[in-house]
Amino acid sequence: MAQVPFAPEVFTWPAESPQLIGARCGSCAAVTFPAQDACPRCGKLEMARHLLPREGTLWTWTTQEFLPKA
Ligand SMILES: [Zn+2]
Repeated sequence: MAQVPFAPEVFTWPAESPQLIGARCGSCAAVTFPAQDACPRCGKLEMARHLLPREGTLWTWTTQEFLPKA
């Protein structure tokens, strides 16, 4: 069975070393995840795709108890 990413805009999978896809502001360098069109810090529309590091600190998490949309 072929594996299909449920949200290809969220991470670079399939890949040998998948990464989360965020955005970085070209004005103030704020980084967001998931990617956003407008910067939450300065409000400018200078966000560009930014691959997040594969290691870091997990600050919070949640679970969803339902299947994703088909
Ligand atoms: Zn900004």
